[in-house]
Amino acid sequence: MAAQETVDHKYVYDFSEGNKDLKGLLGGKGANLAEMTNLGLPVPPGFTITTEACQAYLATGQEPDGLAGQIEQHLESLERAMGKRLGDPQDPLLVSVRSGAKFSMPGMMETVLNVGLNDQSVVGLSAQAGGNDRFAWDSYRRLIQMFGKTVCEVPGEEFEHALDDAKSAKSTHNDLDLDADDLRGLVDTYKKIFLKHTGREFPQQPREQLDLAIRAVFESWNAERAVLYRRQERIPADLGTAVNVVTMVFGNLGPDSGTGVAFTRDPGSGAQGIYGDYLANAQGEDVVAGIRNTVPLQELEQLDKASYDELLGIMARLEEHYKDLCDIEFTIERGKLWMLQTRVGKRTAAAAFVIAGQLVDEGLIDLDEALHRVNGAQLAQLMFPRFQLDHEFEPVAKGIGASPGAASGTVVFTSARAVELAAEGKSVILVRRETNPDDLNGMIAAKGILTSRGGKTSHAAVVARGMGKTCVSGADEIDVNVPAKRFTVAGQTVNEGDVVSIDGTTGKVYLGEVPVMPSEVVQYFEGSLDPEHIDNALVRAVHRIMTHADGKRRLAVRTNADTGADAARARRFGAEGIGLCRTEHMFLGDRRELVERLILARAPGEREAALEALLPLQRADFEEIFREMDGLPVTVRLIDPPLHEFLPPLEQLAVNVAVAQERGEDVAKEEALLAAVRRMHEENPMLGLRGVRLGLVIPGLFAMQVRAIAEAAVSCARAGGVAKPEIMVPLVGAVQELETVRAEAEKIISEVVGDSGVEVLIGTMIEVPRAALTAGQIAEAAEFFSFGTNDLTQMAWGFSRDDVEGAFFWRYLELGIFGISPFESIDRDGVGRLIRIAAEEGRAARPGLKLGVCGEHGGDPDSVHFFHEVGLDYVSCSPFRVPVARLEAGRAVVETDGSDSR
Ligand code: ADP
Ligand code: MG
Ligand code: MG
Repeated sequence: MAAQETVDHKYVYDFSEGNKDLKGLLGGKGANLAEMTNLGLPVPPGFTITTEACQAYLATGQEPDGLAGQIEQHLESLERAMGKRLGDPQDPLLVSVRSGAKFSMPGMMETVLNVGLNDQSVVGLSAQAGGNDRFAWDSYRRLIQMFGKTVCEVPGEEFEHALDDAKSAKSTHNDLDLDADDLRGLVDTYKKIFLKHTGREFPQQPREQLDLAIRAVFESWNAERAVLYRRQERIPADLGTAVNVVTMVFGNLGPDSGTGVAFTRDPGSGAQGIYGDYLANAQGEDVVAGIRNTVPLQELEQLDKASYDELLGIMARLEEHYKDLCDIEFTIERGKLWMLQTRVGKRTAAAAFVIAGQLVDEGLIDLDEALHRVNGAQLAQLMFPRFQLDHEFEPVAKGIGASPGAASGTVVFTSARAVELAAEGKSVILVRRETNPDDLNGMIAAKGILTSRGGKTSHAAVVARGMGKTCVSGADEIDVNVPAKRFTVAGQTVNEGDVVSIDGTTGKVYLGEVPVMPSEVVQYFEGSLDPEHIDNALVRAVHRIMTHADGKRRLAVRTNADTGADAARARRFGAEGIGLCRTEHMFLGDRRELVERLILARAPGEREAALEALLPLQRADFEEIFREMDGLPVTVRLIDPPLHEFLPPLEQLAVNVAVAQERGEDVAKEEALLAAVRRMHEENPMLGLRGVRLGLVIPGLFAMQVRAIAEAAVSCARAGGVAKPEIMVPLVGAVQELETVRAEAEKIISEVVGDSGVEVLIGTMIEVPRAALTAGQIAEAAEFFSFGTNDLTQMAWGFSRDDVEGAFFWRYLELGIFGISPFESIDRDGVGRLIRIAAEEGRAARPGLKLGVCGEHGGDPDSVHFFHEVGLDYVSCSPFRVPVARLEAGRAVVETDGSDSR
């Protein structure tokens, strides 16, 4: 390889030299053209200039040494194969020049067809086509148009206007009504447009046309839209694009010619059948451009049965070969079929599941592969409610689907109004040009958020995803006027109070209330749809693939649930226990008063009395949860947040006290409360008196909770159930903290449990970096670790989540400092490293130490793979995310086995 490099690096590959696995070198289009060529399918001869040539060009601003010569060689062999020469005035070879990167990318240079035509060869082309002047001049005008627009940046509208004018002159809308003379005239006009914008004549040298087109493809890699797209999609900036040079075949030679696109199955639903469009007497780009109305592919059977049958045969062959849905582009030249492109086609989330299931039925793939073909993001998408399929609303705008779901509501333009109307029980959609941190309350109150600016990483998008709220961003057809409380779109005005509907998956915006329907997949998970007995391909496929994932996965999946109702729901979704039961809600509502007494206690016995009153309430809470999770482990976290969170806010209290004093009322109690709030005020509550620190400072608090847990477990056991409590101490940073809590807890437990057979584990959260770094010591006092990845992320980065997400994350994402918020997906390098250290050192100190995750990352697909790799025992996530975690835990096994044997 190295030797070859010094001689002459290979920059050009004939189609017969490549294959589908060379996407990095040949781009997707080139690799698949090569694959089809080698399958013996009818692909017009051609060659691919590699992405390496592009990289070299972009690095130096010049075509690398040897490239020109290799292009020449390949061109010559193309000429030999076709018996034609590029630029031959009698019988010209024409080629297309097509970009094609590893990942398909909007914003890059498209395609130039008919390269090689000039004032002389257009005559030869006509003669070769049996005197078809119309065809020849049509091809020439297309070359000037595409070349002008994509290679020389001539505004495309100018060509389109000239074409429209030519049609108007003939009083027609159909380009087929233009005859050879009209098209010859159009070529003249096009050349003038070209000259006006570029200051030079349209190049007549075919090889110069070719070289300029190739260079334009290289340079389009760095076009603004392409750069932006790459940044958003996390595509590396240095891959470069390949260039394909393909012998032209002509769909515009007459009624027995044409061009089309097709899918081997329906990419929307996954249903089998023939899906495609065909356009007679046209060149490829006409189908996409919508110049004339296409006909359904089925009609080709009447027009040209032989080509139709051949096409269907090829599609079946491609599916069998790629073992997946493929999309294709083809052209028929006078009854001869040519394949111009194929790739594994994009599909909706529903189609992904359905197709994977079908391919298993057909024996093309096994269930492991089916599992690999779908993902948690798709499953999550299928679990959102969506707009009814057959609704008749037309979208008025389309933005970016920034946070999925379907939402309808009354339009409001300010955060304050959103909060007001939401308080009245109304669904509202907050509409802004862009949101900023001041809009946070409005975003919380709204059903959905719609912005006219910004992309997937704008403030609105980032915050909405964090909240799980439907959001469409960057709907730039919408003109928002906040002071006037209205927006205009498609010539209509929408005022505050009008109703709109937004689809956070597709980005579509509708006026009026589009009916929403529940997700069938959720109904299935909830047990109200029986996959064996309904005719629903999607539900059956989901069932099958989920069952397989459950059989494969090594990670258990638990849920975060604080109430019996949540626990029951999560269990239906497949949760195998509770990984995080927070206890703070058990101190709210009408129990607040007891908490106040606990905090304000002065006289001896007051605190004890408050705790004693709380004990039975807590016990009942736990009994309910243990009952719902009968037989499964339940991790209960002792109280975590700072106690002042249970007291009224300072300002409100201060005002109340002042007002009451003014009126001469007795305010002793309020004054004591106010003093306590002042005393307990913290500058950085996230880093203050909370978690285990609270337990060590407030005597009896943890003890009461431990007793409530143990008593509840015993009472469940007496009733014939099996409770498996795991007591979790939050915010531990040093083993001494845990030892202190443990000593007291063990005494209470052994006293309560007696000979009931109940077993209670005691463990800790690992959420302070110091805990991760001293995990070996901490494991001496812990039977389990549960990673609190939210706090661990906050403390590892020094971020206060509530502040940073709204304040500057959008900027960090824009700059690429991180590709995704570390609160959404685990930061493998930093936070992940802490987790690895803690897992390894914890297990080394205590073999059999149980390891889990209870942060929100437990339901994030990529994070689940990471936790699998680290070898944790379980992840825990919100009930709704449980199916996603089950699926991804199964996929993690398949992918680890499949990729290597580490
Ligand atoms: P895109 O990626 O935008 O589809 P393509 O390179 O696939 O761009 O080409 C645009 C259109 O031109 C397609 O319809 C394609 O089938 C057609 N086309 C490309 N090369 C040729 C060729 N050599 N002969 C005939 N049509 C072609
Ligand atoms: Mg294409
Ligand atoms: Mg925490």
